[in-house]
Amino acid sequence: LLDVRGLRKSFGTTEILRGIDFSVAARELVFIIGPSGSGKSTMLRCCNRLEEPTAGQVVVDGVDLMAPGTDINAMRRQIGMVFQAFNLYPHMTALGNVTLALRKVLGKSRDEAEAIGLAALDRVGLKEKAPSYPSELSGGQQQRVAIARALALEPKIMLFDEPTSALDPELVGAVLGVMRDLKAAGMTMVVVSHEMRFARDAADRIVFMAEGEILEQGTPAEIFGNPQHPRTRDFVGELS
Ligand code: ATP
Ligand code: MG
Repeated sequence: LLDVRGLRKSFGTTEILRGIDFSVAARELVFIIGPSGSGKSTMLRCCNRLEEPTAGQVVVDGVDLMAPGTDINAMRRQIGMVFQAFNLYPHMTALGNVTLALRKVLGKSRDEAEAIGLAALDRVGLKEKAPSYPSELSGGQQQRVAIARALALEPKIMLFDEPTSALDPELVGAVLGVMRDLKAAGMTMVVVSHEMRFARDAADRIVFMAEGEILEQGTPAEIFGNPQHPRTRDFVGELS
């Protein structure tokens, strides 16, 4: 469903991504781990062209995001993105945040947008919070609203960049629970996160990145139980 080929990205003269190749199959949950500054966020942002790659290809469901004729805005709607900072509009309710793009971008009627929005909030367990403003919600609830906002656009794939890093520990579980439900419902997901327990029991595959390259990938059992590359061994070793 997602194919990344020879992806390179430089900022000025510094090469941050040095030739990334990886694929994600439909319904797969791929976890990206690696030291701070290794290029995980940059890689994810290149997957919906929030960051313009210097070289390489990103193909989503057969569509080359870099090709001149590609409608990148249409593609972005199919690529849900959830960040560490939830970026909800403070002056809009949960439902208002979730329905905004449905109305403004997809041109849905208010009734239709609200029906879709409520269904999306229901999927993250927050239907009853539809009229609440972000300031009335916990961080974990705000992040679940941000997930519902992405889901409302019916993405083919969801990219998560440290979705729980800004949350108090007691709020992390509910967000991971929503991600687990999405996985069970067949969503294709790429997750950058330090939640190694979640990686261990929810990921199909773990990709280890360092200094802009993929050094190793494998099942959680392989990466955590029997890492091959010395850098992976160090990284995984520090965690346990
Ligand atoms: P972390 O785990 O800390 O989130 P990361 O693996 O997500 O790290 P990136 O955010 O992708 O790492 O950053 C990789 C490198 O690219 C870093 O050295 C960072 O300073 C650099 N970088 C990222 N964005 C820019 C930018 N817009 N301009 C210049 N350098 C950048
Ligand atoms: Mg990052």
